[in-house]
Amino acid sequence: MMDFNSTKITRIAATLCKTMGVDPPALNEGVIDELYGYIMASTGAEKIDRIIMFNPDAIGQWTYDKYYDKFEPVRKYAPFEIELLSVNPPKTPVCFGSMYTGASPEVHGIVKYKKPVIKIDSIFDAMIRAGKKPCIVAVKESSMSKIFNRRDMDYYLEEYDSSVVARTLELIKQDKHDFICVYNQEFDDVMHRSHPNSYAAQKALDHYASSFELIGKQVEESWRCHNTLLGFATDHGTHREWYLLGQHGKNIPVDMNIKHLYGVLARTGKPKPPSPEEENNDNADLTKREQRKAEKDAKKEAKSKAKEESESEVRLSARELRHQEKEALKEERKEAKLKAKENAKKEKEKAAKKGKNSSSKKTANSKSKNTKSTKSAAKKTNAKDKKTSSKKTASAAKKTTAAKKTAASKSPAKKSASTGKSSTANKKTTKSASSSKKK
Ligand SMILES: [Zn+2]
Repeated sequence: MMDFNSTKITRIAATLCKTMGVDPPALNEGVIDELYGYIMASTGAEKIDRIIMFNPDAIGQWTYDKYYDKFEPVRKYAPFEIELLSVNPPKTPVCFGSMYTGASPEVHGIVKYKKPVIKIDSIFDAMIRAGKKPCIVAVKESSMSKIFNRRDMDYYLEEYDSSVVARTLELIKQDKHDFICVYNQEFDDVMHRSHPNSYAAQKALDHYASSFELIGKQVEESWRCHNTLLGFATDHGTHREWYLLGQHGKNIPVDMNIKHLYGVLARTGKPKPPSPEEENNDNADLTKREQRKAEKDAKKEAKSKAKEESESEVRLSARELRHQEKEALKEERKEAKLKAKENAKKEKEKAAKKGKNSSSKKTANSKSKNTKSTKSAAKKTNAKDKKTSSKKTASAAKKTTAAKKTAASKSPAKKSASTGKSSTANKKTTKSASSSKKK
């Protein structure tokens, strides 16, 4: 089984503050040295003076790994990947509460899916104290639109993801804020209504990636005079429940393990061009990385296939199995009836023929053979059918129609039964979908 990651998201807040030379929020749980080191190496040890944290909801590490290629536009601006452990329960306000206070849920006070204003010290308070201007751009009614309210800072609450991104691009152009928090939620929305691998969910990942790319481009264009840290920082993962919809909130690796991506656009707009030596090293690293990636991909594919198979097995619930058995029995009975009919027909034909040119003893013999008849017997019957007179064909046709009618009168009952089932299932889906506005 998958293990839990070890670095907690409670260490993001202090790390971000340190890159700006800002004192961290009071109850933080420490800095991630590896991330801090990477950022400082990217600026040539200069401080960061602009941070954009793009917070896409609900991208589990497994989702990131599975759809790795979709995030290529993200890695263009944020190539540094770091595995993190979310907080329990992995629900949106609990997680962002921890990410931006640096404290555990029981410390910041949101321990379940509720959206009260967090009262303890947060990264926003720390920034304000240091004379920086933070702001939050989020979808209306989302957790991020509420839990850090009542600070002396700007809040931009928009209709949905695309207007959040549009607003962010505008804010970058204006260059009035030092720390911009950008919240998007489409993937979480659609995966609750369907599941994390649905077509719509995959589209949402594309939207996250292209939105981040737009932001990166805008920074490149408008913030050439700043050292900008760009973060692609999700809150938690997801899983698929037994009732098949996407969900999160359990203390399990698929919900708890996430990956953040960070990158720096250093002053002058682009990172310093690497020296030829470094470039060689980079190239060597790249081929190694590509190799590792290929190996990883192969493993992942095998894993996800195995997982899908085992999932579909689980889905064959006891009820379904029983239903299948019943169907099989029905089929068997139908076949037996058909065979009996065929045999009867055959007997009649034989009797007719034998009435013309042979003894009644042979008919008795063929009767006993016919009762044991198999597919080959059926074939023979067909062949003989062609030879029989038009009168017989007509009477056979009548029989077939009668048989069809009986079959038809049975099947609507079956149909309506199954329709009833699926409509209750639909009702369930609608119910849980409408009850799952969980940002
Ligand atoms: Zn979330």
